[in-house]
Amino acid sequence: MNKENVEKTTQIDENGYIIYGWMVEDLKLCSPQVQIYAIIHKYSIEQDKLYTKGISYLTKYTGYSKPAIINHLKKMVKKNLIDKRVIYKNNVRLCYYSVYRENGECLLPFNRYLDPDFKFAKGSTLEENIKLLQEENKTNRELKKQILNMEYKNFLRTPYWKTIAMYLKSKHHFCTICHSDKALRVHHSTYVHHGEEALHLEDLVVLCNECHKKFHGIKNNKEEK
Ligand SMILES: [Zn+2]
Ligand SMILES: [Zn+2]
Repeated sequence: MNKENVEKTTQIDENGYIIYGWMVEDLKLCSPQVQIYAIIHKYSIEQDKLYTKGISYLTKYTGYSKPAIINHLKKMVKKNLIDKRVIYKNNVRLCYYSVYRENGECLLPFNRYLDPDFKFAKGSTLEENIKLLQEENKTNRELKKQILNMEYKNFLRTPYWKTIAMYLKSKHHFCTICHSDKALRVHHSTYVHHGEEALHLEDLVVLCNECHKKFHGIKNNKEEK
């Protein structure tokens, strides 16, 4: 398909989603991925920034079966074309989607778990939140890449790190070395899995402020709250 044809064949459903030329030309999407992408794109650039209508709506507007849609969604999440967000509502697991790109540019500059303003669902437990981070690490390679590109002091302010640190402190109430319960910190015993801490909790150790200072030398105690 050349560019002119792509522009002419722009399709609109009754709710007005648009297949843009760049979705075909730059992202190399074909049917039904291009329709799925276009529908999710429509909701991503609107107020909610999320596609929340579920699989049946996609089935209806693409004419593909439910298993086929699920399979295509999986493939697009793997390629980082779309972003999957798992939310638990009254113990029901819901999958919401959004797209990263606008004209080939990243739509969401940071993974949501790196956005200091991000809040987990109300009433969710630390265990549930850690599971979400682990799922994100497994399905979205962009997360690790973005963490590695961050300044370390900014990483420490992310919901990603804060949740992991809170989780570990909720499990270990005492310093691993001196058993003090004062001013606990979470320390990286190695950075080999930096960006995937949620999948390698064994790399992290709870220390009191005093013992943590000894690890880093007294002057450098800014990291790892
Ligand atoms: Zn200690
Ligand atoms: Zn440390």
